Amino acid sequence: MIGAKDRNAACQVKWCDETGTHTVHRKYLASVPGGIRGAGLVGVNLAQRVQPRASVCVELTVTTPWASTAGYLFAAASVPDIAAALTEAAERATELDAVRHRNDECHYS
Ligand SMILES: [Zn+2]
Repeated sequence: MIGAKDRNAACQVKWCDETGTHTVHRKYLASVPGGIRGAGLVGVNLAQRVQPRASVCVELTVTTPWASTAGYLFAAASVPDIAAALTEAAERATELDAVRHRNDECHYS
């Protein structure tokens, strides 16, 4: 029957993984242990606010044992720049760590 609502029914948005009442359509794509010493999970989702003309965004969530899950919506167009910046920052961090370790070795020679 049209108009009948089942609170546990799957969302009408085809790609949405959420069920029941929700304010954001969401598809869970990846979950990566990203924190120091394996603490915390970084989630990557597709997300779209349930409102007219909302665009589909990329959502990053951070889940840790000591705080509630934090999430942020990125405009899809900005994500490649963010990903490139993250990759560059990670390369620099790895280089700086390598330099530090080489310096550590110098102290012993
Ligand atoms: Zn949905």
